[in-house]
Amino acid sequence: MTTKSAAAAARATVYGYPRQGQGRELKKAIEGHWKGRVTADALRTAAAELRRTNWRQLAEAGVDEVPTGDFSYYDHVLDTTVMVGAIPDRHRAAVAADPLEGYFAMARGTQEVAPLEMTKWFDTNYHYLVPELGPDTRFAADSGKQVSELKEALALELTARPVLVGPVTYLLLAKPAPGVSADFEPLTLLDRLLPVYAEVLADLRAAGAEWVQLDEPALVQDRTPAELNAAARAYRDLGALTDRPKLLVASYFDRLGDALPVLAKAPVEGLALDFTEAAAANLDALAAVGGLPGKRLVAGVVNGRNIWGNDLSASLATLGTLLGLADRVDVSASCSLLHVPLDAAAERDIEPQILRWLAFARQKTAEIVTLAKGLARGTDTITAQLSANRADLASRAHSPITHDPAVRARTAAVTDDDARRCRPYPERAAAQRAHLRLPALPTTTIGSFPQTGELRSARADLRAGRIDTAGYEERVGAEIREVIAFQEKAGLDVLVHGEAERNDMVQYFAERLTGYLATQHGWVQSYGTRYVRPPILAGDISRPEPMTVRWTTYAQSLTDRPVKGMLTGPVTMLAWSFVRDDQPLADTARQVALALREEVNDLEAAGTSVIQVDEPALRETLPLRAADRPAYLEWATRAFRLTTSGVRPDTQIHTHMCYAEFGDIVQAIDDLDADVISLEAARSHMQVARELAAHGYPREAGPGVYDIHSPRVPSAAEAADLLRTGLKAIPAERLWVNPDCGLKTRDWPETRASLENLVTAARTVRTEL
Ligand code: GLN
Ligand code: ZN
Repeated sequence: MTTKSAAAAARATVYGYPRQGQGRELKKAIEGHWKGRVTADALRTAAAELRRTNWRQLAEAGVDEVPTGDFSYYDHVLDTTVMVGAIPDRHRAAVAADPLEGYFAMARGTQEVAPLEMTKWFDTNYHYLVPELGPDTRFAADSGKQVSELKEALALELTARPVLVGPVTYLLLAKPAPGVSADFEPLTLLDRLLPVYAEVLADLRAAGAEWVQLDEPALVQDRTPAELNAAARAYRDLGALTDRPKLLVASYFDRLGDALPVLAKAPVEGLALDFTEAAAANLDALAAVGGLPGKRLVAGVVNGRNIWGNDLSASLATLGTLLGLADRVDVSASCSLLHVPLDAAAERDIEPQILRWLAFARQKTAEIVTLAKGLARGTDTITAQLSANRADLASRAHSPITHDPAVRARTAAVTDDDARRCRPYPERAAAQRAHLRLPALPTTTIGSFPQTGELRSARADLRAGRIDTAGYEERVGAEIREVIAFQEKAGLDVLVHGEAERNDMVQYFAERLTGYLATQHGWVQSYGTRYVRPPILAGDISRPEPMTVRWTTYAQSLTDRPVKGMLTGPVTMLAWSFVRDDQPLADTARQVALALREEVNDLEAAGTSVIQVDEPALRETLPLRAADRPAYLEWATRAFRLTTSGVRPDTQIHTHMCYAEFGDIVQAIDDLDADVISLEAARSHMQVARELAAHGYPREAGPGVYDIHSPRVPSAAEAADLLRTGLKAIPAERLWVNPDCGLKTRDWPETRASLENLVTAARTVRTEL
């Protein structure tokens, strides 16, 4: 290989593109179809139109090779399940009768059948549908979607590369089907699955694919030697096929680690690697295996999951290094652009100067094209872009938004003591008992009460100017009065104000903190037709004025029982936003923590004696590789403690997390040094209570006794039963009684009945103590 020819061949490509369209056309068409307003044919036409628009957009921007098959009506892992014929038994009839309706039934369930389970796609906020496999699974190739989408792109006379979820990742993401032993390992089906991939590859080649991309992001996670062997076998076998396109095996979200030598040795024609955060590790590992002689390397140098403009000179330097390591080096984003919004240019409310710092999918595409051109034809062909990029980076680096001296001074002054409560937990617990005078097995809720249609329309009215702020606040106040009155009547012990004023637990705070930006059109897919608009944490964070004190004290003024203050924790504020990339996450977390600390302290000063700081994202932000986790947990737990350590010993700090499996972070949960934690437990029959006990967790805990994910009302007897189970693990002095999570998605009737039953259950079990 020569550096020169590798450079001259450089091409621009991407692995995937936002699906729904600038006007949210796909979401509208699909939801219209579900409601019966859009026929299947009209939906197909709208989808095909969107695919064409996206490909044209990419081609016009200068992308040399466009992806196909990345489009999806719901989820690309579900599409893979269809492609390999792994339809769960309970969905077979529906899929056979009508593939499109059957597909949506697998995604969303129907009255009769449950959907596939949904879970997070690696450490992104995208959710995929989990394949269900078992020893009896028989795969069968169905390449229809892949082939027809490839043909659509080829008909536009584009160079197109189908993108598939790779067989190893597909199996590693699967779980045992219902009724199959939990010990079943889907990876044992590899030999059965590979012939199906072989068939799909042959079909794609016959349809005109020169290259096919197989995505194997599961290989950036810690893998056992057996799993690495499976990957080696998979690519040895697929590589050995004679009737196949060239294979590009793609990894993203982190470094390949031990999987890199495996793939480097495999008889495939190309590898795609992440050279953003994982750049140094991947570069070293590539050099260590002697590069990829004879192979194509696709370099993901443009970050595919943040919204920041690329440092073009830095990327060119990385690309320059890579030139010596492969036969041909192409330029791409680190992962599919699915994880970023479509077009920053659509934003009207962001200052033009700041807008220049941002890059959504279209801007990232332009960066990729510029880099490929600079690589292939010399940097003198992109001097204008380079100097504009330098100016934008400089403006960002020197802006008062990203460097607020007051915030810098405050964060620099933080000491270890600031992140430590002034008294150890046992002393605090005694002080709180004396101060709060709660009964045994105190009852409470997680924060939100039903977000009624009236509340949502009040917010819409306010935005549209149909009501003024005073009118809106009157409606929020009325809702709070109702929520407090209900809780008093139901007999709950620690009340909440119900979060009526909050649209979203992160956005509400982001709108009130300096340093955050909001977008108008920055939608990204969370799952199916659900899209979210994460705020952008762009600069130094400060809190110009109290954010929650007013409504919390208003609620407290209506009752003699304690009203719990309710905040979103620093880790969750980062996890559900686009965060800045110009400083370590730990530094950003510290700034957010300091702003929230002021809020906690103000709540206490205003008379709030119980304050909950939610951290549902603590676990999901866990780095993909175990080696990176201790450092993360260190700054994450410290940020929580910094938020909550400014209060008196008799002020009770609660935290809340919405999941049941947390065995791997139980130490971190303890390190939060919260006084009380509430967790999801109803569906796992108090499994968390046993886990907490097994780890010797010393504090108070409220494992949920009411599953809020369903409208079903748990009976008092059922809740009491769960409580008795909880008591076997956690002693009565430390056990709380609460639902699994907030009630904002529920309706009032079931909420009322469920909470009344919950209080009855607590009262019954108290008499048995
Ligand atoms: N306090 C929030 C609520 O009740 C917590 C939500 C969550 O954990 N996701 O809505
Ligand atoms: Zn929750």
